[in-house]
Amino acid sequence: MAGISKNIMSKSPWVVHVNCNSCNGCDIEFLACLTPIYDAERLGIINVGTPKQADILVVTGSANYKNIDVLKNIYNQMPEPKVVVAVGACACTGGVFHSCYNVIGGIDEILPVDVYVPGCCPKPESIIDGLIEASRILEEKRIKIKNPDKGVAI
Ligand code: SF4
Repeated sequence: MAGISKNIMSKSPWVVHVNCNSCNGCDIEFLACLTPIYDAERLGIINVGTPKQADILVVTGSANYKNIDVLKNIYNQMPEPKVVVAVGACACTGGVFHSCYNVIGGIDEILPVDVYVPGCCPKPESIIDGLIEASRILEEKRIKIKNPDKGVAI
């Protein structure tokens, strides 16, 4: 938190959450981040119901042959710049489901993942940490889009 500039905090990233066949453990922890106890909204992080308004895609669960098209479709509907956060061991690597007959692996087999939040399941504090890192990366991408020749300077 200490290293986050006011500029980044003011951006209020909107987050869309996709459950890619997770066991729901990671989803419960993500939803806990939105409750008054952890209150991710105090950091400007808002959970929205449509990818068309989202800056950050939070994915729980592993990539498998049933969900890759849905996941790609959701990702493609998000405007640029956008950031992908893999929450939990399953989303990072396939986790306990790795090498199952229908599991491809972590979601980085399908999408460009920017932030990995390991754990089975990760604590809300870790997920919020990942979302703050995602906000920083989002800001970097915004600057890069605005100044394509100047590179990134934060
Ligand atoms: S990482 Fe653990 S808690 Fe999260 S979806 Fe996989 S098995 Fe469930």
